[in-house]
Amino acid sequence: MDRPMMEYAFFEGRIVRFVDAKVSIGTNSLQYGTGAFAGIRGYLDADGETVNIFRLPDHAERLLQSSRLLRAELPFDRDSLAATISSLVEANAPTGDVYIRPFIYKPGIDLTPRLRGLGDELAIYMLAMGDYLSLDRGQRAIVASWCRIPDNAIPSRGKLTGAYVNSALAKDEADEKGADEAIMLNTAGKVAEGSGCNLFIVRGGTLITPPVSSDILEGITRRSLLQVAIDAGIPTEQREIDRTELYVADEAFFCGTGAQLAWIESVDGRAVGPGQIGPVTKHLRTVFFDTVRGRSARYRAWVTPIRRRVPAPA
Ligand code: PMP
Repeated sequence: MDRPMMEYAFFEGRIVRFVDAKVSIGTNSLQYGTGAFAGIRGYLDADGETVNIFRLPDHAERLLQSSRLLRAELPFDRDSLAATISSLVEANAPTGDVYIRPFIYKPGIDLTPRLRGLGDELAIYMLAMGDYLSLDRGQRAIVASWCRIPDNAIPSRGKLTGAYVNSALAKDEADEKGADEAIMLNTAGKVAEGSGCNLFIVRGGTLITPPVSSDILEGITRRSLLQVAIDAGIPTEQREIDRTELYVADEAFFCGTGAQLAWIESVDGRAVGPGQIGPVTKHLRTVFFDTVRGRSARYRAWVTPIRRRVPAPA
């Protein structure tokens, strides 16, 4: 599905028109997947003038961590990267919800698949975006036949472009089987995550998610929801999850920047719990959307408000 790109992008150190932000076909990162990216959402506030960026400094920090995995050397720290992202949001002056895609890549055209000596660039583009997974019904999930990449093959905790071949294989499998999303097991056979989102289950009132050592992406939404659950007095566990626990769980949901919080109705054709959204999921979903829309006083620090520039009178 094509989504509308916003007019301006950040490219080679400045803001340019999106259509002018172009790289060579020989770019190392295009040939070998040696890039890293972030996916960040901005939600239009009820005032219609402010875009609330969810956990901007955390996304900037994770992009820098992913960059370190690729041995990238960039003239940014967390705050200057977050400020650069904010300046692009201001330039695009969105009138609705947006998705922001900052990424780093190696512009060198050297034919060798290597990480050093190719240069490193930051680019950012933005698009208007609503829901990625449907929120008005439950997700039908399958367990994919593709395993999640092990960390000692391609670092799974980083958001590395080449690693998304793994996600794409699993997502296609879900599509072809008529499901909404794929759940990937790691090479040890334990539950890892969705093709583009983390996963939680609820058993006996305890909220459970795989640990960061289960070859998952260290999701920022995952971390946020764990905090919300702890604050609400919901018992939480980060531990390995067996495949068949998905079949006997009381509740299950996906979460992530794109996925937001999407409850799972069935896994491999088996209903999760009664096949309805459960109470723990419902609570977390309410707090999540209140937070990202800027309606939560408690988690206000998690959003960076950016006011749209009001055009000067003619
Ligand atoms: N896992 C994968 C593979 C993802 O692509 C994403 C989306 N970034 C997530 C998990 C969720 O991470 P986050 O909450 O930081 O968006």
